[in-house]
Amino acid sequence: MQLSAIQGDITTLAVDVIVNAANSSLLGGGGVDGAIHRAAGPDLVAECGLLGGCKTGEAKLTGGYRLPAKYIVHTVGPVWRGGDEGEPALLASCYRRSLELAASRSVVSIAFPCISTGIFGYPLRAAAQIAIDTARAHAADPGSIEQVVFCCFSAADLAVYRELLG
Ligand code: ADP
Repeated sequence: MQLSAIQGDITTLAVDVIVNAANSSLLGGGGVDGAIHRAAGPDLVAECGLLGGCKTGEAKLTGGYRLPAKYIVHTVGPVWRGGDEGEPALLASCYRRSLELAASRSVVSIAFPCISTGIFGYPLRAAAQIAIDTARAHAADPGSIEQVVFCCFSAADLAVYRELLG
């Protein structure tokens, strides 16, 4: 598995799957969720409306519509409440389930935003370590995804990912 970190707008990436840091309704929101819905177009919210929402730590897959990506995996990260309310396990579950769901479609590449670290308040460094550790653990699974890209919106986030990736 190849892990990399870049700075950019995830909606522009020509990977097989992009991951959305969604909210539990799956009907759109702010941050990266809003950007993905705007770029994908109105057919996305129509498909999302059929999915019955999504629980924290779970993931659901839709088409990519107007995006260069073929698919979108929508996952709901935990809201940071200080770290003692299961946030690390729930965040790891977001990455694991997203990778499993993408792998079930036999795709090669996936890009993640920094799930939960915007409006949901998860500390970036701790979240990045979970993202990297969970992706590395997935690499041992049969049929795992070959290329994982961490798409950071800010230069500061990218610097942390680059440092942790070594
Ligand atoms: P959450 O509610 O899970 O915290 P947010 O969308 O508020 O989700 O933030 C998650 C991360 O996505 C933040 O680092 C934010 O800066 C980043 N982000 C916002 N827009 C984009 C985008 N177009 N591409 C990639 N990352 C983005």
